Amino acid sequence: MAELKPCPFCGGKAVVKTSSNSVDHFGMFSQLHSVCCSKCGATTAKTYKSEFRRDADGFHVICDGYEEAATDWNRRPAL
Ligand SMILES: [Zn+2]
Repeated sequence: MAELKPCPFCGGKAVVKTSSNSVDHFGMFSQLHSVCCSKCGATTAKTYKSEFRRDADGFHVICDGYEEAATDWNRRPAL
């Protein structure tokens, strides 16, 4: 999992919020992620979607929204 840099605005600890979007729909799962500062509440401007598929071979990640959210958060310029 990607490391999150501290908040660029206040230096607070960043946390990832994950919400389940749809669950087990023909073996498909999706989740929405956003990164949020636990101190001042700054968030990423958008939410990022992860998609997973489960079949006989196991669990497959189709797209990784967590990594994308973390990358965008870490790219934010400090003030
Ligand atoms: Zn902050």
